[in-house]
Amino acid sequence: MAESAWLNFHCETDKRTRVAAFQHTGKEWQLTEVSAEPLPEGGAIPGRVAMNGQFGVARGYAGCPGCGAGSYVHCGGCGELGCWRPGAKHYTCANCGNRSRVAGRMSSADAMDVA
Ligand SMILES: [Zn+2]
Ligand SMILES: [Zn+2]
Repeated sequence: MAESAWLNFHCETDKRTRVAAFQHTGKEWQLTEVSAEPLPEGGAIPGRVAMNGQFGVARGYAGCPGCGAGSYVHCGGCGELGCWRPGAKHYTCANCGNRSRVAGRMSSADAMDVA
């Protein structure tokens, strides 16, 4: 299995797209860093790595560069990631506009799945 993966990451506050880096710890995928620089308008990282299993946030994660949110959600509408403040009940995807209640878990304590 790949040990690193990158996914598009959308900030709900500044609406920019950045790149989230994940590392597989052997147990789960952990979000380690989100690039400080946004991708150019309309830019996206090519391809998509199938990431299965549990998801979490690495201990040293500094938060979303756009707004400082400490965790993230997986959008059920477009399948990409967005920043999320733990405890927030609703999420509006900055990528596809999907708005829904944050529900369920992405099989881990911190990463939430949005239906
Ligand atoms: Zn953000
Ligand atoms: Zn979405």
